[in-house]
Amino acid sequence: MGQSHEDVAHGTALGFRAGCRSRGGCPLHQSATLLTCVEAEFARRGDYAIARLPIDEPVARVKAVATPQSSRVQERARERRESMRNPRTGARVGKRASSEPPHGTTARYLRGCRSSGDCPRNADDLSCVEARNAARRNQARRRGVPAYRASVDATQVARVIRTLPDTGVSLRKFAKESGVGRTTVAGLANGSVPRVHPDTLARLARALDAIRPAMEKERA
Ligand SMILES: [Zn+2]
Ligand SMILES: [Zn+2]
Repeated sequence: MGQSHEDVAHGTALGFRAGCRSRGGCPLHQSATLLTCVEAEFARRGDYAIARLPIDEPVARVKAVATPQSSRVQERARERRESMRNPRTGARVGKRASSEPPHGTTARYLRGCRSSGDCPRNADDLSCVEARNAARRNQARRRGVPAYRASVDATQVARVIRTLPDTGVSLRKFAKESGVGRTTVAGLANGSVPRVHPDTLARLARALDAIRPAMEKERA
């Protein structure tokens, strides 16, 4: 490969794209002030503010500031700033066609969309409630709070969910009625989602209880 990255600005995503792809190989390897090209590239992918910088601009090495006592006010401000981002990808969500923010965002949650069952959801199948929860988890993660992975076995409820289509209840309808994401419901039905959060299990169980009489009638 005759690709030379000697003449590109190091510490930039452009340097990474020009071939400076090893941490040790970048002249900024031990810089306390600037990121290496690799780090700049990944910082760019993970941080919207950095992604807005010109691609050939070196990225400063700023230590993530821990804010354990982050006040409620700061949190609300951050929530507003981040509310237009897709919590999973960090990408900005849609264009603001109307004055209302799109569904599947914290912004719309703050405007009052608080029911997963009624929310039309975004392209990732997230309701406003789920988007807000995801955003809050991400914020906590950035502040150094480890991911909370408590989940419970869902094979029992998955078994029942699998029988729903035979009793005339589509998975889509069940998802809407339970307030659980379509992706999760489909994953339970096809076995790719073996465990769920306890809250999710409770919602599924409640919805199954509500439709059980109809199911039994169908079966009889
Ligand atoms: Zn470099
Ligand atoms: Zn919504």
